[in-house]
Amino acid sequence: MRIESIKSIRVPVSLVDPLRTSHGTHSNRIVSLVEITTSDGIVGWGEDVSPDGVSYVGDSASESFASLRMLADVVGKRTIDVAEMFSDTWWGIGGRHFAKHAIESALWDAHARANGVSLKNALGGTLELVTPGVVIGVHDSLDALEASVRLRLAEGYQRIKLKIQPGWDLVPVQHVRHIVGSTFTLQVDANAAYTPTNFDVLHQLQDFDVQFIEQPFVAGDLQSHAEFSSLTSTPICLDESIVNINDLMSAIEMNACRVVNIKPSRVGGLCDAIRMQEVAVSHGLDVWVGGMLETGVGRASCLALASRAGFTLTPDLSASNRYFATDVTEPFVLVDGRIAVPDSEGIGVSPLPWVFQHPDVKIETLFSA
Ligand code: MG
Repeated sequence: MRIESIKSIRVPVSLVDPLRTSHGTHSNRIVSLVEITTSDGIVGWGEDVSPDGVSYVGDSASESFASLRMLADVVGKRTIDVAEMFSDTWWGIGGRHFAKHAIESALWDAHARANGVSLKNALGGTLELVTPGVVIGVHDSLDALEASVRLRLAEGYQRIKLKIQPGWDLVPVQHVRHIVGSTFTLQVDANAAYTPTNFDVLHQLQDFDVQFIEQPFVAGDLQSHAEFSSLTSTPICLDESIVNINDLMSAIEMNACRVVNIKPSRVGGLCDAIRMQEVAVSHGLDVWVGGMLETGVGRASCLALASRAGFTLTPDLSASNRYFATDVTEPFVLVDGRIAVPDSEGIGVSPLPWVFQHPDVKIETLFSA
C-alpha cells in the first residue's frame, strides 16, 4: 500500500458524564482523528486516544500529536504491508504507541476498504454482537454512586467495572454488590492507586465476589502483583503494566496476573493487540478489550478487534451516549445489552459533517506525496 496523504483532524468535545479515576477526572477531550488517503484514493480513519490532563502510560495528548507529525512523515514515504505494522518494527522508532496506533488503525481501515471487507473480517473477527461492560468512576457519595449504577442497569449493561482508590473501595463495592445482586458481573479497577501496604484491604474484596482487581499497583511493579496474586483468590488483571509483548511475557513468567486488559492504543496497534491476545490465551489467561474514551472511530476498530474469538471477558466498549452527547460518527447504541459490530467495509463508520464544520476544528496535512 502506498500513501497519498495523511491529515490530522482535531476537534474539542465534552464528556456528558465526566469519568473520575485514581489518576484524575476526564471531563473534556480534543478528539484527534487521522485520515489516510492511499494512492488508490481509498480513505481510512484512525484515532489517537492519548489522554489529556490525566496521566496514564505513554505519551500525553500534546506529546502524541508531535509523534503523529513525525511518524506520518516516516510512514508516508514507504510501501506498507499493514499486517507487519507491529509497534516494535517502525523502522527503529520506539514508544509513541498512541500515535502508532492511530496511524496503524487508519491503515487497517484503508486496507479493509480496499479489499471490500469489514475490519472485523480483516482481523479474523466472528461475533456480530458484542456484550460490553460499563465503567463507573469514583463518586463523592454512596447515593451518587447508586444513582449511576441504577442508570447503567436501566440502560441494559450486564457488567459494571468500578473505579476504586484508597478510601473508596470496600464500602462502595459492598454497596454496589448489594444493588446488583449476587450473580451480576462486577469488577474493580484501581489504576495503580495501591501499594503492598494495602494487601489486607485488597484481599477483603474477595468477600464481594469481584471478577478481578485491575492494576492495583504501579505499572512497573510486577513483583507486588505476583505476590498479591499468590495470597488471594481474586484474579488480578493487568492494564498499565502491559505495554508490549515483553511485559506480557514477564507477567506470565512471574504469575503476576490471570487476566489482561488489551487496549490496542496502549500496546501500539491492532497487530500488537492480536499477537498479545494469542500469546495470553495460549498461556491460559483471560483477555478482553479495554477502552480509552474513544469516539465512534476508535470504538469501531475496538469492536472489530473484540469480535475475535478468544477474547473471553466483556470489553469496556460502552455505547456512544455513555461518553458523548454527539459522537463524531453515527452513534453506537446498546440494544438488549449488546452493540452490533459494524459489518460494512472497513470500520463501517466515518466522521460526520459537523466535525469539519465545528468552529474550533483544526485540520492539518501531516504528509503529502
Ligand atoms: Mg484500567
